[in-house]
Amino acid sequence: MSDEKNKEIILTGVPAAPGIAVGPSYLYSKAVPKVHQRALAPDEVENELARLHAAVARSERELQKIHSFAEQKLGASNAKILEAQVMILQDAVLMGAIEKRIRSELKNAEYVVYDEVSKYRRLMMESEDEYIQERTHDVDDVMNRVLRNIQDQKLVSRLEGESIIVSHSLTPADTVIFSRNQVLGYATDHGGFTSHAALLSRSLKIPAVLGLRNATALVKSGDILGIDGYAGALIINPTEETIEGLRRKEQRLKEFEKKLEGIAGLPAETLDHKRCELSANLEFAEEIEFALKQGSQGIGLFRTESQLIGRETFPTEDEQAELYTSVAEQMFPHPVMIRSFDIGGDKLSPEPLQEDNPFLGWRGIRVCLDRPEMFLDHLRAILRASAKKNVRILLPMVSKVSEVRKAKEYLKQAKDDLKTRGVPFDHHIKMGVMIEVPAAAVLAEEIAKETDFLSIGTNDLIQYLLAIDRGNTLVSSMYQEFNPAVVRTLKQIIDAGHRQSKWVGMCGEMAGNPIATVLLLGLGLDEFSVAPIVLPEIKKILRSIKFKEAKRIADKVLTLQTEVEIKDYLASVLREKLPDIPLEALDTSHY
Ligand code: PEP
Ligand code: MG
Repeated sequence: MSDEKNKEIILTGVPAAPGIAVGPSYLYSKAVPKVHQRALAPDEVENELARLHAAVARSERELQKIHSFAEQKLGASNAKILEAQVMILQDAVLMGAIEKRIRSELKNAEYVVYDEVSKYRRLMMESEDEYIQERTHDVDDVMNRVLRNIQDQKLVSRLEGESIIVSHSLTPADTVIFSRNQVLGYATDHGGFTSHAALLSRSLKIPAVLGLRNATALVKSGDILGIDGYAGALIINPTEETIEGLRRKEQRLKEFEKKLEGIAGLPAETLDHKRCELSANLEFAEEIEFALKQGSQGIGLFRTESQLIGRETFPTEDEQAELYTSVAEQMFPHPVMIRSFDIGGDKLSPEPLQEDNPFLGWRGIRVCLDRPEMFLDHLRAILRASAKKNVRILLPMVSKVSEVRKAKEYLKQAKDDLKTRGVPFDHHIKMGVMIEVPAAAVLAEEIAKETDFLSIGTNDLIQYLLAIDRGNTLVSSMYQEFNPAVVRTLKQIIDAGHRQSKWVGMCGEMAGNPIATVLLLGLGLDEFSVAPIVLPEIKKILRSIKFKEAKRIADKVLTLQTEVEIKDYLASVLREKLPDIPLEALDTSHY
């Protein structure tokens, strides 16, 4: 009988730093110092100021130590993150205000530090800039450090032996301090791919999965954990079988990574010289450096929704133009597909709506067409980023030709506005449509006639085609990329696009599944847009097979009747032709 207490639990989050680890957990909860207000007698003031200065000086010494350690380990540019915290301590205006209040209000140092820094913090939280909001964690970290030092408390950051740190969130300083110990991995409730903790753990080469939501509630210190930084999974109390699987995955990936060294500079070209485009899916501009390092030849999907996080209003045309221009410039001369806001569904909603079925509701292009002013700002911003001619527009959630025609009318209006203003842009900017609603798949040829290209969004296409909620764990095993209905629909879309001489790409996750690569190549897909982490593997597969052969394999797949038959056949083809590919290791569908 399984022991309920030690039952295996799998949590999925953001794969923030690659790598595999198995080991005991260390639940890191930073006790926030308790602050009480106390009135001072006038003759206590000097002593109180001395306590404050000593605590600030000690905090500065601690941070300088962490900073120089980070510099050795991470290099000067990465260590800069910690300089920001030292600068807060050295801020003469802030420190002057604190001293003045201790003298004039006769209140204790802890209270005034807490109150004054909280004011600072509130202002930062009110900012519409997500970067500034993120930096409130630095302010909190510094404040807590000073408060702990005023109260003469020690922070325990020394681990007994090797551990996986589980925490609500991690600051850059935590990440660096812990890395001096035997840290096997990081798992947090909060934090995304671009948080500084994620950037640092990637630089420190420590596997990390962030944004797990309730890891700290489910893990106890000492629990055995498995962490899979490739797939973004944390396994609590993994079974022997799971641990063995993780170890195998680690071994195979290490061997395989060695073989991929040097592939980033090579083209995504088959043995019989058919060139494919291999590009990256990105949510944040900060991912560009990594995508280029992985050999990305463009951005096949730039999701624009991240700009809406923590905001109640849409960003202005200027704010949007600044971001898109920076992305286009960093990627130049490679192409960048900027997807117009895909709001609603599982993503952010522009207005607080209560929809019973948000996935079948007001989302994607529907919202943009209903809010012309917002859509025109958005289109003008994208156009402004296109002056160097490497930007394309991608429309999400299209289900009928009239939506495309309407969007084209708005694009024309946006172009006319910019012409009047004398702003430069690409007058021949290409606009394409995501094929991710079954109706659009059926109408793919008509849609292709109206646009410059198609890009298949399998994440949504599969959920709508198979009537399986992509986020529902109860039916996750039925979410099948290799269901024959999916494969035949993909063929119909690609053929329809090609009949109209239009380029057909794929930016859904299926494009990054190595088991699907040969099939998609054989079906004639022109572009694979994938998560940067899997890009070298996909390229390796494309470079290891003939297009002629892939076409034969795809033809055979089209005759098969079930998902299992198709998947087994494709896996066996790969095993035979490309024994190097660690298939079982890369397949993350079991999480
Ligand atoms: C898709 O649906 O396949 C897609 C790429 O879009 P998203 O995952 O952002 O819905
Ligand atoms: Mg989608």
